[in-house]
Amino acid sequence: MMEEKDVNIKQKIQQNLLEWFAKNKRDLPWRKTKDGYKIWVSEIMLQQTRVDTVIEYYNRFIDRFPTVKELAQAEEQEVLKYWQGLGYYSRARNLYKGAKMVWEKYGGILPDNMEQIKKIPGIGPYTAGAILSIAYNLPYPAVDGNVLRVFSRILDIKEDIAQPGTVRYIQDKVKEYIPSGYASEFTESLMELGALICTPISPLCLVCPLYHQCAARQKGIQEKLPIKSKKVKPKRMHMVFCVIRSEEKILLIKNASNGLVGGMWGFMGKEGHPSQDDQTLKLMLDDLNIPVQHVQKLGTVRHIFTHMDWDMHLYMCEALYQGHIGQEHEWVGKEEIENYPLPKVYQKIWEKIEW
Ligand code: SF4
Repeated sequence: MMEEKDVNIKQKIQQNLLEWFAKNKRDLPWRKTKDGYKIWVSEIMLQQTRVDTVIEYYNRFIDRFPTVKELAQAEEQEVLKYWQGLGYYSRARNLYKGAKMVWEKYGGILPDNMEQIKKIPGIGPYTAGAILSIAYNLPYPAVDGNVLRVFSRILDIKEDIAQPGTVRYIQDKVKEYIPSGYASEFTESLMELGALICTPISPLCLVCPLYHQCAARQKGIQEKLPIKSKKVKPKRMHMVFCVIRSEEKILLIKNASNGLVGGMWGFMGKEGHPSQDDQTLKLMLDDLNIPVQHVQKLGTVRHIFTHMDWDMHLYMCEALYQGHIGQEHEWVGKEEIENYPLPKVYQKIWEKIEW
C-alpha cells in the first residue's frame, strides 16, 4: 500500500509533468496525429536516431507511404531507398514486413491491444507501449533509455538499468504513475522531459517541473544516476573490399536480406588480416568468376557500427568484361547510383572511387 505522502508525490509528479508538457512540448510532425501507423513509423525512426535527423525522413516517408496500404504494397527496394542514410536498416525491413502483416491480417489498421501488436515484426515492448499509449491512450508504459534515466532519478533507483530485472521494475513503476485517461500525454511528457531537461549530463534541475519531487535531486546525486554497467567496446575488424570496375561501370552486389545491411546494395568484402590483404583479395577474386586484369589500392575508410568497428581497405579491381556472378548484382554507372539503396558504410566506399 502506498502511504498518503507517496500518493501526494505521485499526483504532483503527474500534474506537474502534464502541465509542463502542455506548455513546452516541441512542435514535431508526429505530434500532429494520433494515427497508430504514423506513430509507429516515427517511433521506429527515432530508435538510435536524433529527432532533428528524423523530421525530414519522417515527412518524406509519410508523403510517399501515407498509410499501411501504400507501404505494404511498395517494393522493399523503394522502402529502403527512403530509409537510406538513417542506418540500422533492419528497422526498415521489419517495418515493411510489419506493414504487410497489418495490411493482410488486420485490413491496414494497427491493432490496439498488446497481444496482437507485439507479434508484429519490429515491434518490441517499448514500441508497443509507445503506440498503445500515444495513439490509443491506453495505460501501457513505454520505457526507453530516456525514461529509465528519468525514473531512476525521480525515484532514486540505484539498480543497474542494464539488467532486465531493473527495466521490468521501472516499467511497473511507470505503469503505476500513468494518470487515468492521460496515457498519451504522460508517455510523451516523460520522453520530452528526458530529451530536454533531464538529460544524461548536466540535467537542468533548476527549471525542471519535478524539482520538488525528485528524490535524486533532493540528495544531490542526480548526476550519479542512472547506474549502468559499461557497454562492450565495438570489435575492431580489418576488412578488405574489392570495387570491381569494367568500362566505367561498377559491380554492385545485393546483400543477403538478413545481414547487417541486408537487402541493401554494396560491394564485395571480407574480413582479413592486416598483413594478408593479397590473400584475402585472391580468395574473393577466385570466387568472383570474372577475370580481373589489374588491382590497385584505393585507400582506407573507417566505419563504426554499434558492435563493430571496420577498418576498410579498398582495392579497385579492373575486370576484363561485365560478367555475371552467382548473386543478385548490377553494373552501375556514376549517375545511376541514385537508384540503389546504399547504406552509409558503402556510400563511403562509393565516394572513394576515382572516375
Ligand atoms: S530534478 Fe533534475 S534529476 Fe530530477 S527529474 Fe528533474 S532534471 Fe531530472
